[in-house]
Amino acid sequence: MGRSLCDVLVKKATIADIANGRIVHDVDIAVDSGYIVDIGRHLKARALHVRQAREGIYVPGFIDSHVHIESSFLSPAGFSDLVLPFGTTTAVVDPHEIANVAGQTGLDYMLKASAEIPLDVRFMLPSCVPASPFESSGATLSAKDLEPYFQNDRILGLAEVMDVPAVLSGNEDMLKKLALARLSGKVVDGHAPLLFGSELAAYAAVGVRSDHEGS
Ligand SMILES: [Zn+2]
Repeated sequence: MGRSLCDVLVKKATIADIANGRIVHDVDIAVDSGYIVDIGRHLKARALHVRQAREGIYVPGFIDSHVHIESSFLSPAGFSDLVLPFGTTTAVVDPHEIANVAGQTGLDYMLKASAEIPLDVRFMLPSCVPASPFESSGATLSAKDLEPYFQNDRILGLAEVMDVPAVLSGNEDMLKKLALARLSGKVVDGHAPLLFGSELAAYAAVGVRSDHEGS
């Protein structure tokens, strides 16, 4: 540290140390390219701009790790305007509601409409459109439909795998979606309440690493 210039050095800030649940005073914060790169007392970092901290408590931008923006009945820009003032700077969204109605057209709209807004929007691809074969959705998204999207850097993985019967029965299209996520080095979110024992083991074995009810 101190060898290259960072963008901003904030001196003597009061911060919320969220990991340890405490407020800490007189802390310097080095920021570069929009990221906090160092925190500590009497930092030696060299910076383009050095500022004395303002009053109040400094916190990092909050990340909403799972949200369906369209469920708020707002466009991504309208959603951004409402959440940014409260500190949420990033949202990981699963547009499965709009995809259930409008398929790829809905997915493409969400990607485009969130590309150049102040909120940093990342995506998980809707894994189950429709949620199950018994649902009357407006569209279907197959593994073939989803495949090109995995190349997009804003797409982090496969969202809420809620069609548990499809996973456990080895449904070919579902297994293809899971394989596409894994092969592109992306994550798979789960949604499997009340799943136990061998069925849970089989569900986890396909690469699911979280559960919607725990998010
Ligand atoms: Zn959800």
